[in-house]
Amino acid sequence: MAEKRAKTPISGARQDKQYENILEEMHSADRKSVFQNALQQFDDAAQHLNLSSDQIAMIQQPRRVIEVKLPIRMDDGNIKVFKGYRVQHNIARGPAKGGVRFHPQVDLDEVKALSFWMTFKCAVVGIPMGGGKGGVICDPSEMSQSEMERLARRYFAEMIDIFGPDRDVPAPDVNTNPQVMAWFLDTYSMHKGDYTPAVVTGKPLELGGSEGRVTATAQGVTFTILQAVDRLGMKLDGATVAIQGFGNAGSNAAVLLKGHGAVIKAISDVSGGFVSTDPAGIDPQVALDHIKQNRTLKGFENNPAAKVSKYNNANDLLTEEVDILVPAALENQITEKNAGQVKAKIIAEAANGPCTPEADAILAKNGVFLIPDILCNAGGVTVSYLEWVQNRMGYYWDAEHIFMDLKRYMDNAFSAVYQTSTKFEVNMRTAAFIVAIERVTRAAEMRGLYA
Ligand code: NAD
Repeated sequence: MAEKRAKTPISGARQDKQYENILEEMHSADRKSVFQNALQQFDDAAQHLNLSSDQIAMIQQPRRVIEVKLPIRMDDGNIKVFKGYRVQHNIARGPAKGGVRFHPQVDLDEVKALSFWMTFKCAVVGIPMGGGKGGVICDPSEMSQSEMERLARRYFAEMIDIFGPDRDVPAPDVNTNPQVMAWFLDTYSMHKGDYTPAVVTGKPLELGGSEGRVTATAQGVTFTILQAVDRLGMKLDGATVAIQGFGNAGSNAAVLLKGHGAVIKAISDVSGGFVSTDPAGIDPQVALDHIKQNRTLKGFENNPAAKVSKYNNANDLLTEEVDILVPAALENQITEKNAGQVKAKIIAEAANGPCTPEADAILAKNGVFLIPDILCNAGGVTVSYLEWVQNRMGYYWDAEHIFMDLKRYMDNAFSAVYQTSTKFEVNMRTAAFIVAIERVTRAAEMRGLYA
């Protein structure tokens, strides 16, 4: 069933027509429930396993759902009340793990889906953690740094007892970053009276963060793309790439893929999409410098160093003539409406949930090799796990150690999923869920969670 989202008004000087259009599209009546999509992916895999209906019920639904009101004094003296969520989907294999998203379109359905995917993502890469996710409905582009700080601290304080190194360990997600994690850490440590870095990951290096965490998601995406091109007899050197979203995951993926010789043909962010007019492709560093000065890619087509033209519709990037497509923005971007026009041979899901189940079916029919989100973008949570381990040991590894550990986790996970896809004759998404569901179910049974 399609669900319509409640509309969050956005006001202020930075309001942008294009952004408004994107929001309108996301609110449209046919925007499907992301959690329903996630359950559909689960069902596609579960039918290959011998699970009872009780096991399925136990593993599908979230263990705990929390909603809080967050009254914040804004810089103008007024009080504004925000809404925040935390969902702990499953803790059979370890403490809940998952980011906190600050975005105007956050809603409970989305947070439930994202926490669900975290359970299976941790299981696919074999790290001993469960699934969680959080979100706050807010528009950080409209907020000052001090308003963000008050909101972050209030969010964490409001749920202080559900967080903890052995309970639930948040991390950054869309519009949250190491600074927000530092505020979370400080709020928790002040309340508990102990310095507790392991309560949150994705922290700044100075506060017990890990080497390699900032680029971990993109590094993991790159490792899985390297595995895929190898299996498909392609080469990354010279392959063309389009990347939707140019934040942490997308921009770092652009830098790393270019480092392997790939040509970055098109990029986009919330301000629009841009296609290269230079056969050598877009230089990600030029795009990053542009963002540093302008906050977004707005006006990138007028930047003489960029050598790009702007798409009339940013979503044209998704159907660009490229070898590899990397959705690195939000959910439900490739749907039954545009999946048939996708020309890429590989889709690497850096974002969570960018393809709907209807799109999956079309892409599979057209022979597109899809690296599913719960495998493709698991590098972030894997290095978060390594950060948590280092915090608990009080001993810190260098960047090379992290790089090699991450590569081992990602390569092993890719192989397990690829073999399962061959064995069960299913696509990579269903194979990833089969691997993960088996691991979660076994852990739950051994713990006696069905008792
Ligand atoms: P981010 O906030 O750093 O960047 C998001 C980017 O997407 C921005 O460039 C934004 O302008 C762009 N964007 C937003 N809406 C868009 C639209 N409609 N069209 C085009 N671009 C749009 O966030 P991030 O951390 O890079 O996360 C991106 C995705 O990757 C999310 O789905 C997130 O859940 C997933 N992910 C991130 C991590 C991580 O470690 N950062 C880990 C796993 C998964």
